[in-house]
Amino acid sequence: MAVKKILTIISLIIVIIIMVLLNLIILLRVKHYPQVELELVKIKEYYIYGRTFNIKGFLDKKISKEDITNVALVLNNGHENIYINTIYEITKQQITFRISDEINNGLLLDKLPVGEYFILLNVIYRNKDSKFYTLQNETSYNNLNYYTLNKNNKTNHIKISFINEKKNPYALSFLHLTIKDINMPYHIYDIVIDPGHGGHDSGAVVNDVYEASTVLEIALQLEEELTQAGFKTKLTRYGDYNPGGAWIDPYWEEGRVNLPHNVKAKYLFSIHLNSAPYRMTKGGVEIYAPNNANLTLASSLASNIVQYAKTTYSPNHFNKRDNGVYIRTFNSDDIQESINDAKRRHYEPYDVTLDTTYHYIIRESGGIITKAYVDGRNKRYKPNNYYNSNIGVEAYLIELGFMVNYYDLHNLIHNKRSYAIGIKEGIIKYLNNEKSPSRVVNK
Ligand SMILES: [Zn+2]
Repeated sequence: MAVKKILTIISLIIVIIIMVLLNLIILLRVKHYPQVELELVKIKEYYIYGRTFNIKGFLDKKISKEDITNVALVLNNGHENIYINTIYEITKQQITFRISDEINNGLLLDKLPVGEYFILLNVIYRNKDSKFYTLQNETSYNNLNYYTLNKNNKTNHIKISFINEKKNPYALSFLHLTIKDINMPYHIYDIVIDPGHGGHDSGAVVNDVYEASTVLEIALQLEEELTQAGFKTKLTRYGDYNPGGAWIDPYWEEGRVNLPHNVKAKYLFSIHLNSAPYRMTKGGVEIYAPNNANLTLASSLASNIVQYAKTTYSPNHFNKRDNGVYIRTFNSDDIQESINDAKRRHYEPYDVTLDTTYHYIIRESGGIITKAYVDGRNKRYKPNNYYNSNIGVEAYLIELGFMVNYYDLHNLIHNKRSYAIGIKEGIIKYLNNEKSPSRVVNK
């Protein structure tokens, strides 16, 4: 009889354990969303540039600086919160915030786990209160669509969109983010390489060496190197033609600016050879980066080209930000020239300022983020389809060396592949070290 009793007790214990486990499983599956406050966060800007997401806005609530200790964005999937640090300040008794001041240094999308999230603002008050606020769209921007870098023919497809955008100020609005693991679509690419010039436009010519054909050879070798490293890579041209069509228009359908956007490229590297109106005793590399960008990738490109191609940094000091790294924006002469051109051709002058990026390939590929402006008013060019886009391709103009320097020219003719390897190594070393301003906290 004792045995029967023990068996009954054991089976009872087993039943209790199973019930507890079942309850635990059910409890774990119930999603837990934080309670949100009535005040709204008004979003003034949100975009993806390169591979990062940035968002700017303010909390519509009177607050004083002494009241708060931290402001973060939170990605909540019902189980856990991913906290994204923000830069915030109190102006006119309101909290304004953004993820980063550098256009290519926001939330790194490639590192987010697959899932479905709401994005909320979390404010920690001095009295330890932690409050959540939902985001309301105050822009006229489009929803965002992004594909992470190719990994063995797989990618994460990320959609970022506002849901419930009613004008009623009390209707709750949410910023929604979904990440799905899918096979890499055939028409999506990671990197576009743009060999400068082509066709009627041969670029600089020195001693029968043509810039257009030299950069094409290097671009083809770079494509080989990057493809071997696992990237999906495309060129803006594969032969001696101009991707701008017969009129050499960069805004042509398959032109230099449209193509990287059409294939949702993360990076655009435009490859050129430098020139000058005189022989140079010193040559070297110049990388032109977008204004307001973090320059880590540009520096990595410059130092790796110098190392692998056994060349030097350019001796040029104008617009220099780091060894071999430059940012050129419109100066007052450029602005005047832009106004004069508008007068000559009878169009309303573009709104260019001292912080507008000068090189069109960098500026126009970045959309609103880099202040692209080619909207069709100048009839010389077709409008840039993406001048108003809040998704920008992170673009760099790479001047590999000076054709008017004897050493550079010789090196560019005889050691082409070393330049391609330098660019590839610059990209890979940068990607291996990159960090995102976020931390995961389970709650
Ligand atoms: Zn060129």
